[in-house]
Amino acid sequence: MKLTRKEFIGGTAAFAATSHFFPALAMGGKKGTIKIRQIRNATLRVRFGGVEFLIDPWLASKAERMTFRKGPLASEVVDPAQLDIVMPMCELPIPVADVLSGVDAYVLTHLHPDHFDMASDGTAGAKLDKSVPLFVQNDNEVAIMKRSGFKDVQMFTDDGVAFRGVTLTRTFARHGTKTPCGPASGVFFTSPAEKKSLWILGDTIWCDETAKAMATLKPDVVVLNACAAQLKTYGRLIMDDADVESVCRAAPNATVIASHMDTVAHASLTRKTLKAALERRGLTSRVLMPDDGEVYKF
Ligand SMILES: [Zn+2]
Repeated sequence: MKLTRKEFIGGTAAFAATSHFFPALAMGGKKGTIKIRQIRNATLRVRFGGVEFLIDPWLASKAERMTFRKGPLASEVVDPAQLDIVMPMCELPIPVADVLSGVDAYVLTHLHPDHFDMASDGTAGAKLDKSVPLFVQNDNEVAIMKRSGFKDVQMFTDDGVAFRGVTLTRTFARHGTKTPCGPASGVFFTSPAEKKSLWILGDTIWCDETAKAMATLKPDVVVLNACAAQLKTYGRLIMDDADVESVCRAAPNATVIASHMDTVAHASLTRKTLKAALERRGLTSRVLMPDDGEVYKF
């Protein structure tokens, strides 16, 4: 059958529209294209549904944020030995230009200085391309990002927001065992172009809300933040090995990735001690713990 020009153009336009919204389908309709690269701390490059996301882009060079002793939270530090540890504790594994190359959107789970570069004048994200869409958790952060020069700032919400065929849904995060140290979020990723779902839990401890969300969402791939960082007023800020065990028990079939390791001074677990703790709990084979720069595909 021969197509008329109109039908041909219509078909091409329809394909173009489809491939814009579902880039993975444009790449041959092959499902299963999730790629996660651990950059450093909570910073991840994620390809999901054919879209390239950069999560929590903290791009400071080693020691750029100095130490707790020189900052406003010195009296909050639990172990005095942590006061003089520089942050970030290590360099990015690849140049900033490579971290940023080809990114379609930035996603920030919450505006804290170990997740996003913050300047003393109250602006943020100096090293990022301000024309790339940026997704944040609330109105306050939208305002800060607009003031910082970002042209396209959107919110991921509890009902989900669509970006090129990928739905980003906000999940609750409890950022502290005592008083949470400000609002924080996780982000649940789904797409018709992916067989699997991805849940980036963000800076949260294991809590009733997380357990409930786990039961509802049934994620296939889970990224959790697990260095058990702590401060006096807020308690433990993110997951420890017991919390990681709770995640594994609640999601027995999920791939679990432990991130946010070996970069901040107030951590109470390192990759080494978390690995030993997971061994004791019989969870070695359940939890992936990437080195900075390491890539996984699912
Ligand atoms: Zn953090």
